[in-house]
Amino acid sequence: MSMRTNLERIQRDIEALSAFNSTPGAGLTRFSFSEEHKKAQDYIVKQMEEAGLQVRIDPCGTIIGRLEGEDPSAPSVMTGSHFDSVRNGGNFDGPAGVITALETARVFHENGLKFRRPVEFIAMVEEEGARFGGGLFASRAMTGRLTAQELATFRDGDGISTGEAMKAFGLDPDRFQEAVRKPGEIQNFIELHIEQGPILEAEQKQLGIVETIVGIRELEVTIHGRPDHAGTTPMNMRADSFLAAARTALAATEAAVQAGEGTVATVGKAQVLPGSFNIVAGTVTFFVDIRSRNKACIDQVEKAIRETLQKEAENPGITWEIRVMMETDPVETDREVCRILEESAGELGITSKRMLSGAGHDAMIMADIAKIGLVFVPSKGGRSHCPEEWTDYDQLQKGVEVVCAAVEKLAKA
Ligand SMILES: [Zn+2]
Repeated sequence: MSMRTNLERIQRDIEALSAFNSTPGAGLTRFSFSEEHKKAQDYIVKQMEEAGLQVRIDPCGTIIGRLEGEDPSAPSVMTGSHFDSVRNGGNFDGPAGVITALETARVFHENGLKFRRPVEFIAMVEEEGARFGGGLFASRAMTGRLTAQELATFRDGDGISTGEAMKAFGLDPDRFQEAVRKPGEIQNFIELHIEQGPILEAEQKQLGIVETIVGIRELEVTIHGRPDHAGTTPMNMRADSFLAAARTALAATEAAVQAGEGTVATVGKAQVLPGSFNIVAGTVTFFVDIRSRNKACIDQVEKAIRETLQKEAENPGITWEIRVMMETDPVETDREVCRILEESAGELGITSKRMLSGAGHDAMIMADIAKIGLVFVPSKGGRSHCPEEWTDYDQLQKGVEVVCAAVEKLAKA
């Protein structure tokens, strides 16, 4: 079957968006409500207008291009992703799904296609949380999860609050609730994203169809010990918080392996105080990131962490506390949407695989209000959030083609 999408346009979009970058030569950095964001927004708006869409920007910065339906009141089919980035990231995380929306709109436009349902093509901001720390901003705004308190208190590295940055960008943070979409307005949200992992490449599949997005729990663990002289304090008379932290990290990762079901646990950030080579560690703060398709497995890992800490605290010099920094439940994608995506791939001769998403995406938030689908295209070497992040353009095109076909089917229904 011949493709309706256009490889040159897909490549041009990715390259054009890649140029709106505050760290050229050191990967892509495009923070929300920045100068680069503005330039990328202008580019996306122009592409949407040229594809015949009615374009608006909601109060939280989401760009929405609408292809009106024959029944304008019918719940819409929505597709898109985010166009902000992490610091020194790559060109595909987010934009792959945004250009999927742009190219789908162009295919519909040049073929004069119109459907019973409206189709909404969207580009979202601050998904990564790289500037303000919250993340999944646009989808939380649309689903009513965003709060005025967050706009006032979440700040970037320069102390600028989210609300202040929005205002400076020309948005009105006081109207953030107008971004909330009414129940029944959106029937489907379909997101294409790069896999950001090695599975599709290793199994030589062209497309991943996500069945479950993992639940995530971020724990901040603080262990207080006693800073002592590293030379004069005998081993059996220490309260070494670093050793307690190391054993806890080990217990967490072992518990993740035991739990199975795709469970992973990671300690990627730690601070040791006072932080000197010749002082026994006094206080250690570290973060444990736990993910699984099954919430009970996440509970199991946390239980192992707490049991280990309790044992460590048998040393009277050791105390500990845990703060849950962030928590999301596993989210299932819509079974019928999965079937339509798989069927569309099959009709196009594109190989696909049902899989788990180990990363969070806007789609999992949109599941609050819509039946979601999430499609992965392969990431070269599994690399992501780094300058080496890459997906071959013809592989990306296959994903775009499948999303385009599935959106058409859903919009006709
Ligand atoms: Zn992303």
